[in-house]
Amino acid sequence: MSSKILEEANRIMTICNACRYCEGFCAVFPAMELRRIFTESDLKYMANLCHNCRGCYYACQYAPPHEFNLNVPRTLAQLRLHTYQEFAWPASFKGVFNKNGKVVAAITILCVLLLTLTSLARHGSSAFFASQAGPGSFYAIIPYPVLLVLFSAVGIFACVSLWKGMKNLWRATEGKAEMFRSPAYNLRAVWDVLRLRYLEGGGDGCNYPDDKFSMQRRSMHHFTFYGFLLCFASTVVALTYDHALGIAAPYAFFSLPVLLGTLGGVSLAIGTIGLYRLKKLMDKEPAYAEAFPMDISFIMLLCSVTISGLLLLVFRSTSIMGILLCIHLGLVMALFITMPYSKFVHGVYRYAALVRHAGEQIQANPVRKKP
Ligand code: SF4
Ligand code: SF4
Repeated sequence: MSSKILEEANRIMTICNACRYCEGFCAVFPAMELRRIFTESDLKYMANLCHNCRGCYYACQYAPPHEFNLNVPRTLAQLRLHTYQEFAWPASFKGVFNKNGKVVAAITILCVLLLTLTSLARHGSSAFFASQAGPGSFYAIIPYPVLLVLFSAVGIFACVSLWKGMKNLWRATEGKAEMFRSPAYNLRAVWDVLRLRYLEGGGDGCNYPDDKFSMQRRSMHHFTFYGFLLCFASTVVALTYDHALGIAAPYAFFSLPVLLGTLGGVSLAIGTIGLYRLKKLMDKEPAYAEAFPMDISFIMLLCSVTISGLLLLVFRSTSIMGILLCIHLGLVMALFITMPYSKFVHGVYRYAALVRHAGEQIQANPVRKKP
C-alpha cells in the first residue's frame, strides 16, 4: 500500500481529533477519540468503519477550498479499497479490484454462455425452446446433480474467500480473538447492521446524493439488504422442500419459497435501482472515482439477478423458460464467483469493524452496576 494514502489518512485523523465537530455522525469519530496517535492498523480499521455518508465533508470548515484540503470520505474510501486488495483471498486475485467492471462483465457473460450452450447442446434447440411446466421442469433443462455440484462449489468458494479476507483484516488491524468471539459485541454489531444505524448519520440521514440530509440512501440499503435476506430464505426453504419433502421445483405461486422469493426480488429490484440512481446523481467531489466501477458493477449484477428471477417466475410455463433459467442461473453463478472481489466485501469487513467498535466502546464506557 502506498505510504502516501496512510500519511494522508493520518493527517486528517490528527486534525479531526483536535476538532471533533463530527463526533455524532458515525462510528469513525468515537473510535478516533479513543486514540492519540494512529497506527497503520488503526487507520485500516477506521476506514472500514466509514460508510461514506459524507456528513463530515459538508460539515467541515477545512474541506476544499480551505488550504487544509480535508476530504475525509474520499481518503477513507481510497484506503478502504486498498484494504480490499490487500486482504483478498487468494492473494493472486487481488488485481480483480483494479479492473472490477471488466472482470465482472467477462465472468458474467462466460457463466451465462456456459449454462446456455451446454443446455442447448444437450437438448437440441427444439426441446430447449419447448414449453415445459410442472414439478421437475427446471431440471429437464439443467439436471439437479449438475446444479447441486455447480452451486455448492461456487457457494463454498465465496464463503471461504470472504471468511479468509475478513480474518486477514482482523489480524492486520490487531483485533483480539476474544473480542470477535464475544456474544455481547456481536449482538451489538448485528443490531447496528439490522437497523443500518450509521446510515442515519447524526439523525437526519446521509448527505447523499448532495449536501442535503436525506434518508434515501438508508431506505434503498434497507430494501436491498432485506430483499437479499428474503431471497436467501427462499432458497433455503426451496432446498428443504426438495431434499426433505421430495417436492421438486418450480413451486406454486402461493407456496412459501415463491412468496419469499417474489417479495425479496421486488424489494431487491427497488433497492438496487434506487442505489444506482443515487450513485448517478451523487456529488463526485467527496467520492473516490476509482471505486465507481466496483460499486456500479455489483449493483448492476445484483439487479440483473433479481430482474431475471422475476421474469423466470412470470414466464416459467412458456417456451422461453429454458433460456431465462440459464440466464438467471448464470447471473447467480457470476454473483457468487465475484462476491469476494466486489462491493459485497464492504458488508463483511464492515461487520468485523463494527464488532471491534462495539467491543472498544463497551470497554471504554462500561455500564456501572448499582452497588
Ligand atoms: S471533518 Fe472537519 S469538521 Fe469534522 S471533525 Fe474533522 S476537522 Fe472537524
Ligand atoms: S463520511 Fe460519514 S461515515 Fe465516513 S467518516 Fe465521514 S461522517 Fe463518518
